[in-house]
Amino acid sequence: MKLENKVVLHACDGYDETRLTEILRTQMDMLGYDSAFFAGKKVVIKPNLVMKKEPDAAATTHPVVLSALLTVLAERDCKPLIAESPGGLFNRQRLEGVYRVCGITPVAEKHGVPLNYDTDSVNIAYPDGKTVKMFHILKPVAEADILIDLCKLKSHSLTKMSAAVKNFFGTIPGIEKFEMHATFPDYKDFGSMICDLCEMYCKTKKVIAITDAVVGMEGNGPTAGDPRKIGAMLMSSNPFASDVVGETLLGFAGTVPIVREGVARGLAPSDISGITLLGDDIKPLLISDFKEPDTAENRAPSALTVLSRGKLGRFFMPRPVAMSDKCRGCGECVASCPQHTIELVVKNGKKLARVRHGNCIRCYCCQELCPFEAIKVKKNFVIRIVGSI
Ligand code: SF4
Ligand code: SF4
Repeated sequence: MKLENKVVLHACDGYDETRLTEILRTQMDMLGYDSAFFAGKKVVIKPNLVMKKEPDAAATTHPVVLSALLTVLAERDCKPLIAESPGGLFNRQRLEGVYRVCGITPVAEKHGVPLNYDTDSVNIAYPDGKTVKMFHILKPVAEADILIDLCKLKSHSLTKMSAAVKNFFGTIPGIEKFEMHATFPDYKDFGSMICDLCEMYCKTKKVIAITDAVVGMEGNGPTAGDPRKIGAMLMSSNPFASDVVGETLLGFAGTVPIVREGVARGLAPSDISGITLLGDDIKPLLISDFKEPDTAENRAPSALTVLSRGKLGRFFMPRPVAMSDKCRGCGECVASCPQHTIELVVKNGKKLARVRHGNCIRCYCCQELCPFEAIKVKKNFVIRIVGSI
């Protein structure tokens, strides 16, 4: 199946709802998403709400983008459901907290649109999968005819960049995501699994990928980095093509493993010259100094990492360390670690997290889900010495 290589990009200076509504309306018109397209269809919006973070932290889809989208969908008589499975436990209490802190609850109430609290999930066979042939996903997502992939453009410690393709990982319920990390400890296999998931949705449903790249996150994304203005909104029926544009905006063109896997599968052109890029000129928006995560050398073709795959390879990768001055002993990282390799210890009467690195697969879930940004990723000393020569 050939996916369309059309992406609409508009410059967008900030989270002004009137401007965002105008952009999304124009983009939907340009791609033919009219009332007839949505008529009689079950529509699910999948935002990126990785954890309880306020909108200004730039870790999650901005609620004003959601609000603008709901206005444009209402104009097309579309009544969607908003569904997400954040990191950690998948239950009503967790969902309520994430929707509230991320600013989604008042937006949904204002538009009279339901938030999903159904924690049922179903198995979906995907015999064409290269790495995974069966996915266990949220039931409302499985039942949707149209999936709106409302993602955030961010750096990512494991996958370098998180955007339209990666956002679908949040359709796997709760802590099963940690199990997927444990099953695919190598970032290439993990990326291939994510590509299977996204490819499955593109083949079995209508997908609309919308990227909130107004303010993204640089550095130690997806949750512990810094907000960075990018100034763009993207829309496409093809999440892979959209991410080719996303990696180009960030100055990461040709280097994001998940995007490269999609390109290798023929799901998107290798660069933006093969994409029908509509809307505004991309050139004034290109960023040359977007900060990569501290884990960047995970993917660097250094002699050490190429020669040593598996456990030995992981020895050279940056490792997570709990910082005693920031750690509050909440135990979130203990619950999120797929390898059960973090423990809470008591030091000077204070509970602190401690990582036992022998069994660590460098998935960085602990860094992603620590509410206090207390997990730092530290370079291996050999890599540090080699890098300084
Ligand atoms: S490292 Fe973070 S998540 Fe882990 S116990 Fe400390 S504060 Fe909590
Ligand atoms: S310690 Fe952190 S990086 Fe290592 S396996 Fe556990 S969650 Fe992943």
